[in-house]
Amino acid sequence: MLDKVLIANRGEIALRIMRACKEMGIKTVAVHSKVDRDLKHVKLADEAVCIGPNPSADSYLNIPAIIAAAEVSGAVGIHPGYGFLAENANFAEQVEKSGFTFIGPRAETIRLMGDKVSAIRAMIEAGVPTVPGSGGPLTNNDQKNLAMAREIGYPVIIKAAAGGGGRGMRVVHSEASLISSISVTKSEASGAFGDDTVYMEKFLVNPRHVEIQVLADGQGNALHLFDRDCSLQRRHQKVMEEAPAPDIDPEARAEVLAACVRACNKINYRGAGTFEFLYEDGRFFFIEMNTRVQVEHPVTEQVTGVDIIKEQLRIASGEPMSLRQEDIRVLGHSFECRINAEDSKTFMPSPGTISQFHPPGGFGVRWDSHIYNGYTIPPFYDSMIGKLITYGENRAAALEKMRVALDELVIEGIKTNTDLHKQLVRDEGFRAGGTNIHYLESKLIK
Ligand code: ADP
Repeated sequence: MLDKVLIANRGEIALRIMRACKEMGIKTVAVHSKVDRDLKHVKLADEAVCIGPNPSADSYLNIPAIIAAAEVSGAVGIHPGYGFLAENANFAEQVEKSGFTFIGPRAETIRLMGDKVSAIRAMIEAGVPTVPGSGGPLTNNDQKNLAMAREIGYPVIIKAAAGGGGRGMRVVHSEASLISSISVTKSEASGAFGDDTVYMEKFLVNPRHVEIQVLADGQGNALHLFDRDCSLQRRHQKVMEEAPAPDIDPEARAEVLAACVRACNKINYRGAGTFEFLYEDGRFFFIEMNTRVQVEHPVTEQVTGVDIIKEQLRIASGEPMSLRQEDIRVLGHSFECRINAEDSKTFMPSPGTISQFHPPGGFGVRWDSHIYNGYTIPPFYDSMIGKLITYGENRAAALEKMRVALDELVIEGIKTNTDLHKQLVRDEGFRAGGTNIHYLESKLIK
């Protein structure tokens, strides 16, 4: 087993990883920017190293500083969490070349899946259903692109191959704006991601976002941990998630789960990963794969009883998979609300000092967060400050727990989006289950 792990992240996920390490007897090294010296996990880690000034580019994205911190602390493994360098193939490569274990997939897998065009190609080869589309990069041949869109049928969506975080996408409703939309998306992609490769997909009008969690040991054993529904989104960013996805056609589910496991074996996947799909009219369409642990992994942990971070650590230690597919069952239902330091109406970030904090609790309530009374949320990073997760014997019970838990949550001194979640858990449409990716923006955000 890895003996000492450096956590190359901050906030709730750094704390989550640290807790798993401690439970397994693994020593921990926290790395942090100047302002983050007061983070909870920094105080609880066995060792802490400051890796640079506050801007992420100088600290959490500073590869030489992170590798140097691993060297001086004697860490043997590096866990990237999510965001920052988690899906940076160069980082994974440099970590391994420097003699450390990267707690994630091999660099070549991250590269293959990080380019959405090569990811889609790999999925087509593995027999995973994808969204009808160009299946490859768009060329500068206008006539060819117009003909392709006509064949796919409008609306279509132009997406950056290197896109992420809901950026680098443009929906095109008619032929008149196709060519200009391709060139605008190309130049935006080049500016934002340093790569102007774009591709075309059919824009599904009312899909749900349903994703499959997988684990694979890179030694030929892959399995799935069933599905999650992440359709509640604002600007393509997830707000609330649940497991299992409600009201899914059982045959389509069985097929897609088997296809994901097959794909893992085909690309010799190692570690935890997520296949993201759009689900419409009883059919699944692959959109991308995340080669890391996701923010919403706790809802899967709640319903399967599998600790995903511990499995990542075991796999990275070279242990063969101890779980067997036939032992994994979904029991009950779980929800997760992302609590952000932002105004619940305008969504403007609200950094500042927390003057009063009381977390909710009780049977089936889980609070994954690094905040505490008197903690100051810095303005430099993501605004998510905690995740409120509930578990119940069925969807209705888990939802009632969430209603009560949200009412119990007290965070003062800054603004949070808790009111939006309170509205959501009381909303009839959402309570019925199975709402699509437009529901939150069209019904609840005025
Ligand atoms: P990112 O990597 O930026 O998260 P994704 O490809 O995962 O991008 O897409 C994010 C979200 O954008 C999806 O959850 C969905 O809401 C929307 N989206 C993406 N592709 C399509 C599509 N072909 N049709 C309809 N909506 C889409």
